[in-house]
Amino acid sequence: MTTQEKLSSSVMGTYGRFPVVLEQGKDGVCTDENGKSYIDFGSGIGTSSLGYCNETWTEAVCNQARTLQHTSNLYYTKVQADCAEAICKATGYSKLFYCNSGAESNECAIKLARKYSFDKYGKGRHNIVTLVNSFHGRTMCTLSATGQEVFHNYFFPFMEGFRYAEANNTDDLRSKIDDTVCAVMIEYVQGEGGVNALKQEFVDAVYDICGKRDILVIADEVQTGIGRTGTLLAGEQFGHKADITTLAKGIAGGLPMGACLANEKCANVLDKGSHGSTFGGNPVCCAAAKAVIETVTADGFLSEVRAKAEYMRKKLAEIKGVKSVSGLGLMIGIELEESTAFETANKALEKGLLILTAKNKVRLLPPLNITYDDIDKGIEILRSVIEGKEN
Ligand SMILES: *Cc1c(COP(=O)(O)O)cnc(C)c1O
Repeated sequence: MTTQEKLSSSVMGTYGRFPVVLEQGKDGVCTDENGKSYIDFGSGIGTSSLGYCNETWTEAVCNQARTLQHTSNLYYTKVQADCAEAICKATGYSKLFYCNSGAESNECAIKLARKYSFDKYGKGRHNIVTLVNSFHGRTMCTLSATGQEVFHNYFFPFMEGFRYAEANNTDDLRSKIDDTVCAVMIEYVQGEGGVNALKQEFVDAVYDICGKRDILVIADEVQTGIGRTGTLLAGEQFGHKADITTLAKGIAGGLPMGACLANEKCANVLDKGSHGSTFGGNPVCCAAAKAVIETVTADGFLSEVRAKAEYMRKKLAEIKGVKSVSGLGLMIGIELEESTAFETANKALEKGLLILTAKNKVRLLPPLNITYDDIDKGIEILRSVIEGKEN
């Protein structure tokens, strides 16, 4: 039996998988079971932010795994404290809650926002406005928060308390706001929704409207966070800091971790017994996240990310058959004139390049420390696929 057959016979078929069995990786390149190598422009789904088996990251993970792989949150660990301190210091947030995924960090944000409002105003101010085309996760609550009809299927009943406003439409947003709303939740760049950045005026309006009514702003930075867009948080580029920011994907370089960050006014809303996670703040994941944070915030790292992003975007825009290039930093969407994104991804795979898709777009989330050499090689493959040339 091949690995594909074995896996399909024992793992639920919830994913459309590319026909490749990946075996190992180093930095920006991975290798399949037949020894064929691939430049990786996806880094998982933006998770392996420092590429495969980065030296510093691997060292931190292995050391921690050999020392203390887990303890419950009934006890303290130094690595959990150090990691939280590093994240809070780097982002300017007061406190965080550790969990294990993007959906969980959004669940935490939603609970926090509702309790903030309940503590201050009592019952009835529980509604949360999210945006059309958003993506916030796969749990029942975060599916309900996700503003895409395709996700609101099969699993009825979905959760009450979510309203969807059109992105970049301030009038529509205003019409969804009333005295029953406790929070507005946004992605600065909608990732799964098609790699579309919000307009500055709209983001300004969100903060303005919310600020006047003590409505919390939740920034879902699960995909945009930790350097992906060229700043540590994407919010910095819009000149705003949300009351609550959620992180996951790239935060621990490929190990499962989520974090819900709260500013001063939200820092103590979730108190003893009101929330929890068995695995949240796992020492190995914290050691990994600490290595990622220290690397990404080191002098010059983020300016390199911005330079590489600019370089990639320029080269991509020059490819014949590319209609537009969207997103921010190394979160890149490519709209094609003819071929579909999925076809392009399959052809790229054949030629030794891993890419992602989002709706009708090709989506690139390369490792933040990708080399110019790998960028050039990957773009050359992508060019040959998009321009339809055999080489
Ligand atoms: C991926 C993603 C999520 C869900 O993260 P999981 O770790 O799969 O639960 C939530 N929000 C955004 C913006 C994402 O990109």
